[in-house]
Amino acid sequence: MSKSSPLDTPMMRQYLEVKAQQPDTVLLMRMGDFYEAFLGDAEELARVCGVALTSRNKDDPQPIAMAGIPHHQLPNYLPKLIAAGRRVAVMDQLEEPAVAAKEGRAIRRGLTRVVTAGTLVEEDQLAPGAANHLVACTSLDADAQPVGVAALDVSTGRFTVEEASSSAQLALILARLAPAELVVPEAWRTAPDLADLLSPVPPIATLPPYAWKGGDARRFLAERLKVASLDGFDIAPEHDHLAAAAAAALRYAESSVAPDAQGRPVLPHLRGLTRLRAASGLVLDATCRRNLDLVRNSRDGTRAGTLIGAVDRTRTAPGARLLAEWLTRPLADLPGIRHRHDAVGALVADDSLRQDLRDALGAVYDLERLLGRIATGRANARDLVHLAASLEAAGTIGNLLTGRVLPRLLTDAQACLSEIPGLAETIRRTLVDDPPLAIGEGGLVRDGVDAEVDELRSIKRDAGAWLANYQAQEAARLGIKTLKVGYNSIFGYYIELSKVVAGQAPPDYHRKQTLVNAERFITPPLKEYEDKALGAEDRIRARELVLFHALRSEAEAATAHLQRLADALAAVDVLAGLAEVARLGAWCRPEVDDALALEFTGLRHPVVEASLGRGRFVANDTRLDAEAVDAPRLAIITGPNMAGKSTYIRQVAVAVILAQAGAFVPAASARLGLVDRVFTRVGAGDELARNLSTFMVEMAETAAILHHATKRSLVILDEVGRGTSTFDGVSLAWAITEHLHDRVGCRCLFATHYHELTDLAHDRPGIGNLTVAVAEKDDDVVFLHRIEAGAAAKSYGIHVARIAGVPATVISRAKEVLATLERLNTDLTARESAHRPAPDDISALPPTRPAGSAPVQLTIFGGVSSPTLDRLKTLDLDGISPRQAWELLGELQRSAASE
Ligand code: ATP
Repeated sequence: MSKSSPLDTPMMRQYLEVKAQQPDTVLLMRMGDFYEAFLGDAEELARVCGVALTSRNKDDPQPIAMAGIPHHQLPNYLPKLIAAGRRVAVMDQLEEPAVAAKEGRAIRRGLTRVVTAGTLVEEDQLAPGAANHLVACTSLDADAQPVGVAALDVSTGRFTVEEASSSAQLALILARLAPAELVVPEAWRTAPDLADLLSPVPPIATLPPYAWKGGDARRFLAERLKVASLDGFDIAPEHDHLAAAAAAALRYAESSVAPDAQGRPVLPHLRGLTRLRAASGLVLDATCRRNLDLVRNSRDGTRAGTLIGAVDRTRTAPGARLLAEWLTRPLADLPGIRHRHDAVGALVADDSLRQDLRDALGAVYDLERLLGRIATGRANARDLVHLAASLEAAGTIGNLLTGRVLPRLLTDAQACLSEIPGLAETIRRTLVDDPPLAIGEGGLVRDGVDAEVDELRSIKRDAGAWLANYQAQEAARLGIKTLKVGYNSIFGYYIELSKVVAGQAPPDYHRKQTLVNAERFITPPLKEYEDKALGAEDRIRARELVLFHALRSEAEAATAHLQRLADALAAVDVLAGLAEVARLGAWCRPEVDDALALEFTGLRHPVVEASLGRGRFVANDTRLDAEAVDAPRLAIITGPNMAGKSTYIRQVAVAVILAQAGAFVPAASARLGLVDRVFTRVGAGDELARNLSTFMVEMAETAAILHHATKRSLVILDEVGRGTSTFDGVSLAWAITEHLHDRVGCRCLFATHYHELTDLAHDRPGIGNLTVAVAEKDDDVVFLHRIEAGAAAKSYGIHVARIAGVPATVISRAKEVLATLERLNTDLTARESAHRPAPDDISALPPTRPAGSAPVQLTIFGGVSSPTLDRLKTLDLDGISPRQAWELLGELQRSAASE
């Protein structure tokens, strides 16, 4: 850099030095009232935030690009940069400008924060009902070796670690955590198949190799968690990958906060480290979460139209977050589930207790995040007032739960709601009810709390009276009624005379400022007053700050206790909310056992029911059993478009998830044998980001089900094979159904327009046919949404197309084509059966469709001719030796291959 380079100025050197340490960030540097960015970062800032791009030295042949934002608007611009996937480094002035000016040098500036999506702590930038996970993974290939996955929510201090031992499992974990930001080793920065693992892909950050070394990681973690060994966190010596993931998450989070001048740990509110075990809950993969719209809808990623949106009656943000955790990670152990049902049941049964609890919860603030701010020294006086209000409410809730016989979860919560002696009271006594947000501007402390503050305030008050008096006195002395005494923050106190009368100013008036229409003066008595008043103001502010810090330290010292209390309040909130929704919607307590049945009567889909309005949803029954002989384990649901097939199969999956999350279910009665995993294959959509066509996505999802479903799983299939030709599609659907029934033996609901599949029920008692009732009148069709036994007679596709507004000419032509096809099908069927009536031909079995209705779909499984099969059927097994059998097998195989 030459001496004359525009970059070689003290200010630019400061900027470039920090930029070299934070190359992956957009760096903003405080300059006066603005945060400025330079060079490439200026262009980035201008592009993302839409601010003007200028240059610092326009006349130079190499002008420096520059863009800035007013300093007080930083909170408005940060979310834009973060949402655009950027990391933002913030440099502040570390001293008063006057100090540097006096010494004739540049103001000292330094890095104060790195703001990233995964390390946000500002309440207004975080979704209240969702955790904000910073996730660290030791690698992205869990098929090569087990991967450690750590998740840290910096806003609440929650910290978990778990292991993924296959890529499929890693995808499951990442889908559950929905990382706001992902930290990986440098080598994985550009992992090509990240989109296979999680979607949408969050911002990725990397740490160098040393940060992932097992030994260092252990030492670092033990020091931060203040333990001698990690055994207590269930991280044994051979679990280096778990330690490495946890250490990486923590290191990255710490690097986002500038070191504290008082040497305070950067994340003092960290809550130990919880090891999560695989297979400890009901597994729900990303596809299932998406297809069932569990916590975010597939349209715009919000809670509108989601299951959580329909069941969330929590009154606090931590309650909403805990509910989301319960719904996305339901349990699979009977005692755990029953404890939750017991507690919900007790609150359903006691309307007044539930109401009182919910009323009291309404006064509780986001205690978890508030404690995070207290522990990190960022809490203001309003936060403390909110803490006091929350503690008072916690007291009320504790009292409500005392002296009653209650289920375990409620008594456990009650035990954590004990008071911190006097804390709420001290806060209330010290701080005003509605203190300002800024802690340095005074006005925080009540009168009568501190003698020094009281005395200074009285000086200020008396001085105020003096000021009014002085104005009246000077106006009289000069005979100028318009004389005004005023104050402004730059020039201090002044006497203002309009231009017309300014000439009458006496000699003791010293000119201070000239305005267009007025002159401002200062006098010795006014100067004396200014010193006294401003001095008092400064001293009051300083003293109030001391009192506030003492109060905040008192709260900070109780962080661990307060976190337990916050957890208890969140649990009570979720339980009371679930009880409320159950009571209002007449939901029932599900009976959960370890059999393999699923029995619901009067079951509804909570989201569709809510959108239709009360009383308009038609409830239905379901019975599947993987063990009983008198019930199917796999039901094929056929019926017209828009009849309610998808809704029906989804409501069963939703009910299982609700029940195992600990909630009641929207049904008249419910009994379910524990489910280990819910699989869904619903609808179809391209995943262009992954270069997958609709049909490929469909088959990939189906393959995952066929590989991983167990007898204990619930599988929901909404159309399989529609993305290819009819014959291919129905053949695949047929074979998939057989596999699920014959090999996997899981409970399964399969909604389909392939009526051929209903034939599968003929020779398999474990398969049942269901259809949706339809009433036909004249040319009109009414969908009754009632599920009944049997197969559908017609599709009504053309009818639905008419309702959807397809032009009448197209509709009438479609009717003609349909008539031809139906005739063709009848002819074909007749010809095929006349030709070769195969004795075990499945189409020859008695139909399950209502008598008198003609089959309307092309039959493709009738009349299959196979010499190999014929030979196989006529084999006399008792008459051949093992050797002959072996040779015959070879022959049959060759002959089958040539057919
Ligand atoms: P398609 O075959 O075209 O996918 P479908 O049979 O799967 O249709 P759904 O999508 O489940 O039909 O339902 C269509 C609409 O019918 C829903 O949006 C809802 O408005 C209504 N509906 C579904 N089930 C019920 C029900 N049980 N009671 C009342 N209305 C229902």
